[in-house]
Order: sequence, then structure tokens, then C-alpha cells
Amino acid sequence: MEKKREELMSEPVVYIDGRFSSKSRAKISVYDHGLLYGDGVFEGIRVYNGIIFKLKEHIDRLYRSAHTLLLQIPLTKEEMIDKVLRTIRINGFKDAYIRLIVTRGVGDLGLDSRKCPRPTIIIIAEPKIELHQNKMGIRAIISWVKRDSVDGTTHEVKSLNYLNSVLAKIEANNAGVDEAIYLNQNGHIVEGVAENIFVVKENIIITPFTCSGSLPGITRKEIMKMAARLGYKVEEGNITPYELFNADEVFFTGTAAEIVPVIEINGRSIGDGKPGPITKLLIAEFKKLIQDPSQGISVF
Ligand code: PMP
Repeated sequence: MEKKREELMSEPVVYIDGRFSSKSRAKISVYDHGLLYGDGVFEGIRVYNGIIFKLKEHIDRLYRSAHTLLLQIPLTKEEMIDKVLRTIRINGFKDAYIRLIVTRGVGDLGLDSRKCPRPTIIIIAEPKIELHQNKMGIRAIISWVKRDSVDGTTHEVKSLNYLNSVLAKIEANNAGVDEAIYLNQNGHIVEGVAENIFVVKENIIITPFTCSGSLPGITRKEIMKMAARLGYKVEEGNITPYELFNADEVFFTGTAAEIVPVIEINGRSIGDGKPGPITKLLIAEFKKLIQDPSQGISVF
């Protein structure tokens, strides 16, 4: 018993359908449609200093994604919040990255979801996530892989179907840069592989409409509100590659990425090739926001 507990605590503990197991023992069925078909939804969530940042907003988005896919989550939102809190508590993390997943569940080898009686719920927590650590700015390419259109695999839904993102990331890796940026079928800028994108031009802050095919990002929304509070004009709009190359500043936002300056795109330097003043100001303000207990739900 004592050994089992020690083993449990030496590595992160994962929640699967009401049970906790150590990371190396956490397993799901090979018949799970999350694996077989990417049929499921997820959220990436951060814990800062014992506060789960924007947890309610993440849970709301998870349920909107599931609603769109006609995936009936067998827990109320309150019960789901409780499971997330318990997972962080049992892990004892003050700071963490959480991956909350709901799959269609275990079925047969056909893709008929009626054969999956119960969704699988998985909550993973890691003490940290490292993404785009280079605070001096990153380099990106516009990918030849276009963002999935606003259709069955739209990225407005945070589904387990991320092949579109994985492919563009491979292209970025092969090009020796940090990140890829998507165009939609109209040739307008959409987002990064797992980040929303913003452009600053003449002190106006612009981000693509979510109907361009991007995820309605929770960080995106916070940055839009924050920039408006700071007195900047903030707009949603269509952005062309030309406008991106000739922006004064470009930055990505996301739960894992936070705010990341982009200083070069397809070999063109952005602005003077350094993180710009508005990006730097937003990074500083965002650091304050994530430490504000009223911005999330307390774990302990
Ligand atoms: N776009 C995509 C495709 C993503 O996966 C993410 C990460 N969740 C984002 C944007 C950023 O969204 P958020 O700020 O809610 O993390």
C-alpha cells in the first residue's frame, strides 16, 4: 500500500473516469474513438500560484466544443470543475499545465458513435510546460498547409483532430523556424498551430475574425480586453500576408505560449526585428493578470 502511494507520488497523477493512476500506468483502451478517429474534445489550462486561470471559461469552451460534436459529457460543468480541482490537489501542484480531454469513448472499430456508450474523461497535469521560451521573439513561416475550413473539422472546435496543426509544425521544424502561421482558403491569416495571432499597425491592434477558421482563444479575448483598457484601438479583421509582413509588431497568444513576439516571418523582419513596445507592455500586464486570484478558481 505504502509502495503504491510512493509510486503514485513520484510522477504526476492522471485522472481517468473517476480513478487516479500514476503517469506511467495511466492507460485507455485502444478501442477508444479518441485514438481511432480523433473523436473528442480537449482543453489546455494553466495553474498559476494555486489559481486555475480562467477555469470556468475553459470548461464553458469544452462544453461548447462537445455540444457542436453532439458529444454528451456525462458530468455537469460543476462536477467537471471539481474533478479538475481534485486532480491538481492530489498532485500538489502550485503551478501546472492541465490537459482535460473528453473522448467519444470506447466503441468498436467502425466509426459509428452510437457504439460508444460512455465518453472517456481524462485529466493530465504536469508541473510545467515549455513553449517558445525565447522572450526575444521567434521566427515563423506561413505554412503551405491551409487551416481547415469552417466545416466539420473547424478549429473553432477544440477537437482532438489536430493533424492540420501537426503538419504545419513539421513544416516549421523542417524550415528551421519556431512556428507556422496558417492562411485560410481566401488567403487571409488565421492563427498559429496552437496560438492566436495579433498584428500591431500604427498603434491599432488587429486580430483575425474567429470565423476566419481560428479557435476563439481565451488568451486572445483577455488580451483584447486588456489592450482596450490600456487605451488601444482593438479590432477583428481580415489580415493578408502583405499586412503581416509590413506590420509594426506581430505576436502570438495562447494558454501554453502566453504572449510571444514574432520577429521574422518567411525571412522578412517584422518592424525592427525586435519585440515591439506594445507587445512588451502587454506581456508585462498579462504577468500581473495571471497572478490575480479573481481571474480563476483557487485549488487549495
Ligand atoms: N488556436 C489553437 C488552434 C489552439 O490550439 C490554441 C490553444 N488552446 C489557441 C489558438 C490559443 O487559445 P487559448 O488562448 O484559449 O489557449
